[in-house]
Amino acid sequence: MFISANIELTGSYDYGEVGRSVFIAIAASYAALDLAGRVTAASGRIRAAWLTGGAAAMGIGIWAMHIKGMLAFHLPVPVEYHWPTFLASLLVAMLASAVALYVASRQKIGMVEALIGSVIMSAGIAGMHYMGMAAMRLPAIARFSLLLVTISVLFAFIFSLVALMMAFDLREETRWTVPRRLGSATVMGLAVSAMHYSGMAAATFIPASPPDLSYAVSISPFANSGIAIVTLIVIVAAMVTSSVDRRASVEVQRLNQELERRVAERTLQLEEVNQALRKEIVDRKRTEDELKKQKEVFQNIFEDIPVMIGFVGKDGHLELVNPEWQRTLGWTQEEIREPGLDIYAELFPDPEYRQVFFEVVAASTGEWTDLKVKVREGRVIDVAAAFVLLSDGSSLGIGKDITEWKRTQAALQEAQDNLARVTRVIGMGELVASIAHEINQPLTAVLMNGNFSLRQITSGMPNLEEVQKAIAEIVEDGNRISAVISRVRGLLKKGAVDRVRLDINEVIEEVSVLVRSEAARNLVHVRLELDTALPRVLGDRVQLQQVLINLVMNGIDAMGAVTDRTRTLNLTSFPHGNGVLVRVQDSGSGIDTDPVERIFEPFFTTKPQGIGMGLSISRSIIESHGGRLWAEPGSPGAIFYFTLPANGMTV
Ligand code: ADP
Repeated sequence: MFISANIELTGSYDYGEVGRSVFIAIAASYAALDLAGRVTAASGRIRAAWLTGGAAAMGIGIWAMHIKGMLAFHLPVPVEYHWPTFLASLLVAMLASAVALYVASRQKIGMVEALIGSVIMSAGIAGMHYMGMAAMRLPAIARFSLLLVTISVLFAFIFSLVALMMAFDLREETRWTVPRRLGSATVMGLAVSAMHYSGMAAATFIPASPPDLSYAVSISPFANSGIAIVTLIVIVAAMVTSSVDRRASVEVQRLNQELERRVAERTLQLEEVNQALRKEIVDRKRTEDELKKQKEVFQNIFEDIPVMIGFVGKDGHLELVNPEWQRTLGWTQEEIREPGLDIYAELFPDPEYRQVFFEVVAASTGEWTDLKVKVREGRVIDVAAAFVLLSDGSSLGIGKDITEWKRTQAALQEAQDNLARVTRVIGMGELVASIAHEINQPLTAVLMNGNFSLRQITSGMPNLEEVQKAIAEIVEDGNRISAVISRVRGLLKKGAVDRVRLDINEVIEEVSVLVRSEAARNLVHVRLELDTALPRVLGDRVQLQQVLINLVMNGIDAMGAVTDRTRTLNLTSFPHGNGVLVRVQDSGSGIDTDPVERIFEPFFTTKPQGIGMGLSISRSIIESHGGRLWAEPGSPGAIFYFTLPANGMTV
């Protein structure tokens, strides 16, 4: 600073002090920026505490810088300071800092707020500065250059505005905060210093009378250093506190984030569990609905089906029966469970049938069985029943009243038997002549032997030996005749089907006797090839004879026109599986019907006097014995086969 030689006091600067003041300004700025972040991060009372502490530290910093700046200026006269004004300027500095921190720590900062904040802050700083100058007590008076004062106030304003914006920007914790804050603090510190020194430059001191030194103190270099040290301690303390708080808040934030992450994770898990639960609920609901539907379906079946349904418990008690059961048998659901009633004794008065029932239920194989059941009103009905075992050990039985069906079946069977007999009788018509011839021969022999015996006896000298021989022949022929007649009678007889264990070879031989004459008349050579190790079959002798006669007579018919080869009819028996196979083979015209199967159709015939029932009836007879009858082309002629199982009926 230039001080005019004569009038003004010439001052000089202690540049060491200037440097220190700038350093304090930068440190205070750094603290201010730092604290702005803390104030922002806090809320409520803590915010107020930070604001107060921050304002104090920052105010002290700016104030100390100012003091330092003043003390760096040496005048050739002793200078003392009016300490109350000094202290008041400290208060002003603190208030200005409070305003600055308050504005910078707001959520948002608009241009208007920034401007108002800057005006207040700059007014505070300028006020503090000029109050500080006003506290000077020296034998001189200060004159101020209006221009430099204005410049200094303007500096204060610009500095405040820049500082506010910087503080606002820097309050968030980012990676570059420390270097940036350091840079900003330097800029701010330099601005504060510039303001201060331009303010200092605005004053010139003119020597005058000694000042009023009441309340004035001189600041020794020692006190000066003390102020600096205390200020720095305050600033450092503020920064350390801020840093600790920041770390703590960072930690709190980290913990918060961790907590949030965990909460989010947990929420996600819960959401997943929730979702799985919801899905399970939906699934369960669907299953329940399906089960309900199924139950309804089963319920409807149980109630509406025209079939008897009953459940027999593990302990053998009849537990549940459906409406059809109740309708058919006449007992209600409640009645069957009445303690005193033995429902099985009611249903099966015949112990034998009851036993059959128990056995069938115990086995529960699902096979159909015919049961005779007594209904409540006394009638006995035929029931086809089947029982199956359920997983809980009980048995489910279903049954159908087949009384009517059985009656129809029986009538049908009778009709079929009658038809078979009629065709048999018709068939016999063809055989009558040859059978008559068959009987005639032995009958003639009987007559001749009879006459011979008579003559011998009446001659007076009978040759007894010859007579005996003749009578023996008569007996033999009589037996032959009787056998033929009894077979014919058997064929014509109306009789119930009679299944016995029989030797099929015997049946073949019997038939060959009956057809012998017919074959001979047609020049047919009948050959038997019978396996001697055949199992017996369960069958009706007459029906099987009828089948064989049909096949043989058809073969003889088919060979009627054959002149160029021997007419042979082979009757062969074989063991077959668990039964027998019989083959009837001729050397006749063969079957020219296409398909061959047609010849088995009822009323199919190629003969002028034919009826076309022989093969159809034969097939139904064989099938009713559990066997099969079919035809194949021979070379020449035709081959007919039929099988019979040894263990009786399989159908
Ligand atoms: P019908 O003898 O009254 O005609 P069948 O049912 O016994 O009735 O025979 C039906 C038809 O099958 C016969 O008309 C004949 O055409 C044919 N048929 C049966 N047996 C033989 C055979 N051994 N050779 C050739 N054709 C046969």
